[in-house]
This record gives sequence, C-alpha cells and structure tokens, in this order.
Amino acid sequence: MTKTLAVNAGSSSLKWQMYEMPEEKVIAKGLIERIGLKDSISTVKYNNQEDKQILDIQDHKKAVNILLDDLKRLQIVSDIKEITGLGHRVVAGGEFFKESTIATPEVLKKIEELSSYAPLHNPAEALVMRVFEEVLPEATSVAVFDTAFHTSLPAKAYRYPMPNKYYEKYGVRKYGAHGTSHMYVSAEAAKLLGKPLEETKIITAHIGNGGSITAVEAGKSVDTSMGFTPLGGIMMGTRSGELDPSVLPYIIEHDSELENAQDAIDMLNKESGLLGVSGISSDMRDIISNKETNPNAQLAFDMYIDRVKKYIGQYLAVMNGADALVFTAGIGENSIPFRAAVLDGLDWFGIKVDPEKNILGATGDISLPDSRVKILVIPTDEELVIARDIERLK
Ligand code: ADP
Repeated sequence: MTKTLAVNAGSSSLKWQMYEMPEEKVIAKGLIERIGLKDSISTVKYNNQEDKQILDIQDHKKAVNILLDDLKRLQIVSDIKEITGLGHRVVAGGEFFKESTIATPEVLKKIEELSSYAPLHNPAEALVMRVFEEVLPEATSVAVFDTAFHTSLPAKAYRYPMPNKYYEKYGVRKYGAHGTSHMYVSAEAAKLLGKPLEETKIITAHIGNGGSITAVEAGKSVDTSMGFTPLGGIMMGTRSGELDPSVLPYIIEHDSELENAQDAIDMLNKESGLLGVSGISSDMRDIISNKETNPNAQLAFDMYIDRVKKYIGQYLAVMNGADALVFTAGIGENSIPFRAAVLDGLDWFGIKVDPEKNILGATGDISLPDSRVKILVIPTDEELVIARDIERLK
C-alpha cells in the first residue's frame, strides 16, 4: 500500500487528490483557490470532514507548502515521506509528449519550453513540480499531458489551412485539450457497450466550464474541437470558442478598449461565451434558471446548444456514425436541461434519449432501447488516470 498524490495546478489554483494505491482508494482531496490574490482559500476534504482556511498564498510554492502542512496537521499522513508517487497534470505537451512520462529534469525543461502554448498553465505546473521535487526527491514524479491523447490525430484534422511554414516553423496546429478525460470516458464507454475498445466509434462531450468534443475511433482520438489553444471549438463558460479570425483586427481597430491582439484574446478567453452573451453569468445553472425571463440568457443557452450539436454532427460524419455519445464533466454530467436540449432533434441520426432516464444523478445508458447510438453519462476521473499512470511508471 502506498500513497500517491494527483496534482492539477491551474493558473491560480491547485487541485489535488490523494490515493491509497493500488487499491485506488481516495484518502483526501482538496483545492487551493485564489493563489496570488488576497484571501486565498484552502479546502481539504477527508474522512467525511471538511477543513477550510483563508490565508494569503502569494504563489504556487507557498501553495504546495500549505498543502503539505495540511496533510500533516490533519493527520492524513504522519510523515510526508509516506507519499511515494506524484502525478502532475500538464496542459500543453505539444507534439513532443505522446504519453505520460517520468518528470526528469529534461522533461521539466521541455514543459517550460512549451509555455508559449499555455502561458497561464505550463509555468505554474513546472514550478509546482520543482517544489515537490525539492521536498520529496525520492517520490516517483510523473507528468500527464492533456494533449497526449490527441497526438493520434491525423494531419488532415490537426493542420490549419495556412502556409506550411506556420506549422513547420511555428508549430501552429490543433493540439486539443482534456485528453485524459476523453481517453478515460471513451474506455469506460467501451466497457458499458460490452465491445472491445478497438471496435468502437465514440463521441465524447466533455462539457464543463471549459469544454471540448472528441471523435474517438478504435480508442484513438481522430478529431477534437479544441484547437491551437483551449480557446477553440465550442462556446464555453467565458470563452468564445471558434470564430472568423477577421473579427480580431476589426474589433481592435474599432473598440478603443482593446489596444492589441492580447487584449482581444483576453476578452475572448475571459469575457465571452455564456458570460459575454447572457451578460449575467458564466455558470450554466444561472443561465438555465434565468432564461425564461432574460432573453440574453435564452440566447446564450441556444447558441451554446447549437455549437455542441454541430460538433456532434461533424463527428458523426468524420467517423461515419458512432456507437455511443458520452456526456461528461460539470455540465455534461449534471445538467438535465442541457442534455435534453442537445439531444432534441437528433433522432434522424439514430440518437434517441429516454426522458425517464435523463434525470438527476443519472449515470450510464440514458437512451431508448431502439437508439442506434447509445447515449451515456460517464463521470470523468482525470485524477484516477493520473494515479494509475504513477503506478504504471513506478
Ligand atoms: P472545469 O473543470 O472546466 O472548471 P467542471 O467540469 O468542474 O469545469 O464544470 C464546472 C461547471 O459545471 C460550472 O461552471 C457549472 O456551470 C457546471 N455545472 C455544475 N453542476 C451543474 C448543474 N447541476 N447544472 C448545470 N451546470 C452545472
């Protein structure tokens, strides 16, 4: 029995989950939010208890130290050295990292070099990995890449129709995101279908605050909605998803609030999507509860559903059908009206939901018996994939 820690460092947050392995038992989990801001919050859940502290956590180094202190203070471990495995989610692995790998000093350097593909994430992730390395040099440290699952994309899907030099010299291509989640839920879907993964065609819809949809054929990602960065694809909580690139120079020229391309990209990342269109919230729950009375919330909802439907249609075309359509992540797992709206009017494709199964807490098959494409709700578990990768690579 060993203890492993799956770590997911965001630009201003640090999510973690501790497992007893190989039993795959979750011992504790937590979230440190608002790193670098005033009143950072560290929450730890363990043994049916919750511990919450409001502190000033200036940077990720401090966050790691708070986490390690909490583990001791709450007696989740008696000695930090009980942690023998560390797994880190890394957003951008470029074309270089095709699978999870031991985080050697060369790997850390490469992750930092790839920062231009994920400027908010990769530097924080590399820093967190280095801090853990200092405190726990004996532990096996593994990097798990969000992009790895999508390195199987064929060139026709990942290339953009631009002059070759932008790919060859500058690495401009589709890298995708949420790969760990798409991989996990597609494998789980094959089990539910009772078919070998190699014989399946599955569309996975990871719909959370960020969202992406992937076409998975024979267990491999063959197309995915996110692009060069996590701004591409479907509309999201605060992100626009794809739009005509000519919009950018046009708005920079006409809107005095936008000085340059970076301002415009920030607006598309942080002020757009559900938030931008509704004007009230980036949270799907707020959009749904306000849409009857607020036409902008209704429009935001309708646009969101429209984008998700279109990607499902695209991937049915890419794979010439599908055995299953999977819903996962915050919205995909929990929102009944979201799923109902997406699935409404897809019966021509052989996609038929059973309204009596599309209910709160539903997991597994929610389709009617004669639905050609099974509709599955599968809770994602990226942390478990990370914990398993640590065991595999130890
Ligand atoms: P991320 O990991 O991208 O931050 P999550 O997968 O945790 O996102 O999803 C978070 C989002 O899920 C929230 O912003 C919220 O909009 C949505 N969500 C959670 N529960 C529900 C629900 N019951 N109905 C609608 N949306 C929900």
